Amino acid sequence: MCGIIGYIGKKQALPVLVKGLRRLEYRGYDSAGVAILGESEKGKVERVRSVGKIDNLAEKLKGQDISGTIGIAHTRWATHGGVTEDNAHPHFGCDGKLVLVHNGIIENYREIKEKLGDKHTYKSETDTEILAHLIESHYKGDLREAIEHALSHVRGTDGLVAMHADHPNCLIAARLGSPLVVGVGEDEYYIASDATPMLTYTKKVIYLEDGEVAEISKEKMETFNLKDEAITKCVEEIEWNDEQAEKQGYDHFMLKEIFDQPTVFEDAIRGRYNLEEGAAHLGGLNMTTDEMRSVKRVILIACGTASYAAMVGKYAFERLAGIPTEVDVASEFRYRDPIVDEHTLVFGISQSGETADTIAALREAKRKGAFVRGIVNVVGSTIARETDGGSYIHAGPELAVASTKAYTNMIAIMTLYALQFGRLKRITPATGQRLLKALREIPAKMNEILDQSDEIKKIAEKYKDYKNMFFLGRGINFPVALEGSIKLKEISYIHSEAYPGGEMKHGPIALLSEDFPVIGIMTKDQLYDKMRSNIEEIRARKAPLLLIATQGDEGAKELTDDVIYVPDTMELLEPLLNTIPLQIFAYHIAVMLGRDVDRPRNLAKSVTVE
Ligand code: GLU
Repeated sequence: MCGIIGYIGKKQALPVLVKGLRRLEYRGYDSAGVAILGESEKGKVERVRSVGKIDNLAEKLKGQDISGTIGIAHTRWATHGGVTEDNAHPHFGCDGKLVLVHNGIIENYREIKEKLGDKHTYKSETDTEILAHLIESHYKGDLREAIEHALSHVRGTDGLVAMHADHPNCLIAARLGSPLVVGVGEDEYYIASDATPMLTYTKKVIYLEDGEVAEISKEKMETFNLKDEAITKCVEEIEWNDEQAEKQGYDHFMLKEIFDQPTVFEDAIRGRYNLEEGAAHLGGLNMTTDEMRSVKRVILIACGTASYAAMVGKYAFERLAGIPTEVDVASEFRYRDPIVDEHTLVFGISQSGETADTIAALREAKRKGAFVRGIVNVVGSTIARETDGGSYIHAGPELAVASTKAYTNMIAIMTLYALQFGRLKRITPATGQRLLKALREIPAKMNEILDQSDEIKKIAEKYKDYKNMFFLGRGINFPVALEGSIKLKEISYIHSEAYPGGEMKHGPIALLSEDFPVIGIMTKDQLYDKMRSNIEEIRARKAPLLLIATQGDEGAKELTDDVIYVPDTMELLEPLLNTIPLQIFAYHIAVMLGRDVDRPRNLAKSVTVE
C-alpha cells in the first residue's frame, strides 16, 4: 500500500521527494504530501498536501519557496478516514514540531487515542495522526527513544519515517511490517517503501527488517532493535533497473501480487477477530445485533473473479451462519427484478469498488429495502461510499489486470463475516476458535505453495501448447475450478471451461481426448471419493491430467505424474490454498506464450461501464 520517501543530505530535498513520489505512483494512492525541515528558521516544518495525483501536489508547490535538505513525503492509500487533504500525510503532533509519514494500519488506534486523553487535538480521521501524538507524548528530547517507546504500545503494520524540528540533522525510520529500504549515497541517505525512487541516485541499499529502527543523519546511519540495542546492517548492491524495482524484482506485477498473498492475507484478518471468543468482529458492518439476527437471506453480488470468491463465500455463510445465500452476477441481478426485502443482506464485492454493474445492482437492492454493504479493496471508491457499511479487504494496490490477491482477501473477509453471523446463531466458541486457528495458519501454508513455483512452471511447460482445457472441482472446489479457468483464459488466451466434477458425464465428457487436458482439484474434503471417481472416468478417456491434491495423498500419483501438492486445511478454507497453484500455472503458461501478462488484450482492471 502507498509509498514513503525521505531524504537527508546536501541536495534540496523538495525536488528529490517530488520526483521520488512520482516513482512510487505505480503502487497506487489517492493523495500525497510532503514536509520539509526548513534550514533558516529553527523549528519550522513546511507541509504541503493534496488529494489526487502528484501533479496536483506539484501544482500547489509551484511558486512556494520551500528550502531544506531534510524532508519526508508520502503517497497515501487511505485505510482510516476518507480521501481528504486533512487525512493526507505527513501528520503532525500537537506542537507542530514532530512530523511523520506512515504506511500501514494502527489496529489499536482507538485504545491509544483514549489513553492519550483530551490533552491532544486531532486534525484528521487517520490512525496515523494518533501515532504522531503517541510519539509526541513519549518525547523527552530523544526522538528515537520516543519512537521506540511509542511502538511498543502499537499493534498493527507500520513503516514510518519521522523528523522533529529540534533535530535538524536527523530522520528516524522504523519498520514493523511495512517495508522500508535505505539508499546510501555520499553524505546523504534516502529512505523509501521500496528502492524505486532512489535508483537514479544510488544502487547501494540497506533493507530494514521488522522491529528495526534507523537513526539517520547526513553523515551516518545507525540501526537499533526495539530494545534499543545496536544492530549491524549490511549494505547491498541492487542490480535492478527502475522498472524491475517497481515490481520488487518480479518479472510482472501479477507474479508479485501472487507472492504478496500471504502478507496481505494477514493484513485482511488482523485485528478483526477474537481468538479467545472464537468470534469475528468486522467493525464496518454497521448493524445492530437485532438487525443481524433479522437477516433471513444473504445475496452476494459480484462480477468475474469476485463472483467466484463470492461462491466460496456462499459456503461460508451457509455452513457457519446457517443463512441461505445466493450468489448473483451483478449484470444479471439488476435486470431480473430480484426478490429482496428488509430481511435480506446484500454484499457487493468488487476489487476496485467501481464496477458499474455491481454499483447498479446495489442501488437496486437498496431501493428495495435490503441491508446493503460493500466488500471492496479501493478505499473511498463508489461502492465504499454508497453502501451503508462493509469492509475493506486490505489487499493493497492490485495492478495486474488479472486479480489474484484481491480474490483470496475477499474470501478471508466473507469467512469472517460468516463467522460473525454464525456466532450469533449456531457456532460455538470452540468451532469459531478452530476456524480462526486454521485461518491464521493460511499465510504459512500459502508460502509452502509459492515455494513450488519452479516445479509448477515445469508442469506448465507440458500444458502450454494445448488449445483447450477443463478445470474440474466439486463442492467448495468448484469455484476454485472456475477461478483457475478464468485466470488461464484471461492471460494466456487458451480456451478453458470449468465444470463441477459430477457434471462431466452429463455432456462435457464428449469433448475429452488426448488433446484436451483436465486440471482436477482433488483435495481431501468430504467429496474426495466422488471426485476421485470422476477423475478415473477422465483417465479412462486418456485425457492428460493435472491434479491438485493434499500433501500425503500418494494415491494421486497413481492417477497421473502431474500432481501439485497443497497443505491440508479445513474444507471451508481450501480455496484459499487450492487457487494459488492455478494462478501460478496460468501465469507461467502466459509468460511462455509471450502474452502481455499484466495487461491482457481486451480487458480493463476496473470495469466502469455496463
Ligand atoms: N492508515 C493510514 C491512513 O489511512 C496509512 C495508509 C497508508 O498506508 O497509506 O492514513
